Amino acid sequence: MIAAHPDPDVHSATSAGPATCQLLVVEDDATILANLVEYLELQGHQVDVAYDGLAAQNRLAARTYDVVILDLGLPRADGQVVLHHLRNVLGLATPVLVLTARDALASKLDTLALGADDYLVKPYALAEVAMRVQVLHRRARGAVVSDLLQAGSLCLDRRRREARVRDQRLHLMPRSMQILEALLLDPGRVISRRALENLLWPDEDVGTDALRSQIHLLRKALSQAGYDGLETVHGVGYRLKCP
Ligand code: CA
Repeated sequence: MIAAHPDPDVHSATSAGPATCQLLVVEDDATILANLVEYLELQGHQVDVAYDGLAAQNRLAARTYDVVILDLGLPRADGQVVLHHLRNVLGLATPVLVLTARDALASKLDTLALGADDYLVKPYALAEVAMRVQVLHRRARGAVVSDLLQAGSLCLDRRRREARVRDQRLHLMPRSMQILEALLLDPGRVISRRALENLLWPDEDVGTDALRSQIHLLRKALSQAGYDGLETVHGVGYRLKCP
């Protein structure tokens, strides 16, 4: 979705660069979702959406967000399941603001214990949602040193979506970039073919050749730039050779 111009009043609280965020909003109620997206885009944020829990998990595996706004009552996977997946399977520290109709103390305590950073009960004021997003983002930026991922001479700037081998910029198609990012998040660890297929084609069942040809394209781009560390682990998946 297209971001509108930021409102200077909203962004005056920080001085460490623009406070606009890449957001993922997970919400199955179309009206609530539309209102949230419209308001947050007016604040200058870039907003992705997911309508159910599984779609949210796929989005979270595929790209990086600054803040996630998460409903709890969701089709296909409850918000608490998504939260558990985000923290424990994907291993992400992304700040999560839970927006839910569940106002029981037990739900709040459980959800915060699972790794939510904030919890707001519906109905809420949109201005409060936007402010809490700002606060979470500001706090997280204080903690995050760099968006740079690296393995030897290979480097990826996740925010700029730029990959380099030494000084040479790689021209990668989006799927090659996604594969590279997944591998660089944990160089040396094998990422299974299945995990990569879910990442690249979350809503489709593609044959094994589709991934193979994407890997081929990525490996070609890397090797043209002088990097030969993308390894095939036969019968399992792929990994980057540790330097
Ligand atoms: Ca819901």
